[in-house]
Amino acid sequence: MILYDDSRKEGLIEFGIEIPVLLSRVLNTFDFLKSHEILGPKIDQWHIRPIEETISRDDLLRVHSADYIEKLFSAGLEKEIIKTFELIDEAGNYHRYDPNNAVFPLSRLFDRILDIVAGTVQSCWVALDKGFCFAFSGGMHHAQHAYGAGFCVLNDIVIAIRKLQAEGLVRTAWVIDVDAHKGDGTAALTKDDDTIATLSIHMANGWPLDGAEYDPQGNFNPSFTPSDIDIPIARGEDDLYIARLQEGLDRLDRRPRPDLAVVVSGADPYHKDELPSTGDMKLSLAQLKERDLLTYNFLKERHIPRAYLMAGGYGESCWEVYARFLEWALMDNLGLVK
Ligand SMILES: [Zn+2]
Repeated sequence: MILYDDSRKEGLIEFGIEIPVLLSRVLNTFDFLKSHEILGPKIDQWHIRPIEETISRDDLLRVHSADYIEKLFSAGLEKEIIKTFELIDEAGNYHRYDPNNAVFPLSRLFDRILDIVAGTVQSCWVALDKGFCFAFSGGMHHAQHAYGAGFCVLNDIVIAIRKLQAEGLVRTAWVIDVDAHKGDGTAALTKDDDTIATLSIHMANGWPLDGAEYDPQGNFNPSFTPSDIDIPIARGEDDLYIARLQEGLDRLDRRPRPDLAVVVSGADPYHKDELPSTGDMKLSLAQLKERDLLTYNFLKERHIPRAYLMAGGYGESCWEVYARFLEWALMDNLGLVK
């Protein structure tokens, strides 16, 4: 199942933000699936449009600090968004941001972010019901307890799992994060939580691991919080990626079967990705399809409901990664893979 509200057409550029998270990644993927010879006529069997969930402040407070949430719901919002999207450089100038080009105010971007969180919750619901759901949004894995980071204001992954736990729908969950960047926020937010196990396979160096582990005052940088299973891949080790992921899944398999898995399925390990900070990982389209089939089949064979999120994917080509996987996954879901 695909969860995608195709009535929403806002990209970051409509807010004056020049980060290459392009609307084309959802539009091209959806167009590809819609015009697919076999899947196209069956669209009613795989497309869910309305985002019906709503997110309350209490949902956010299970994960983020009260001070931080207060800032987001007050005049402090704009400053937090500017920090999280790194829109002002050290010299105090706008960086990849031009408010004059904005069609909408940043406050509306926060409404969109709340919609994304709602979509993540709903995709987990659908996964519990149908076994598989891929949301065309979500995966904001860098957001920390008291601040946003790396384009992630709220950690939708942990918010969704805690909401489902509070509602008694799941007790335990796995987060399998295959985005190019480490799932640092998710690791930090769940470090003392035995109900959520995290696996992250990511670039060994570079953002968010390029800072100091401790600041000059001796405070620990939460980005260095270990996941339950971390798989760092160094520059040039792309050919080891699939075997290392398999080893990681084997380690995860020694834990009790969870009620739900959330897969943070970023396309940014792709060699055609255009974000400079993903340059250390250069997987081919074939390797990425192997990655996606590995996580999917691993979870399916164990009858674990799986909710996939789009996460990172930058530039004109990343849609190819999603389309290649979803063509196969939807065919499998509809019983059409031989
Ligand atoms: Zn990423």
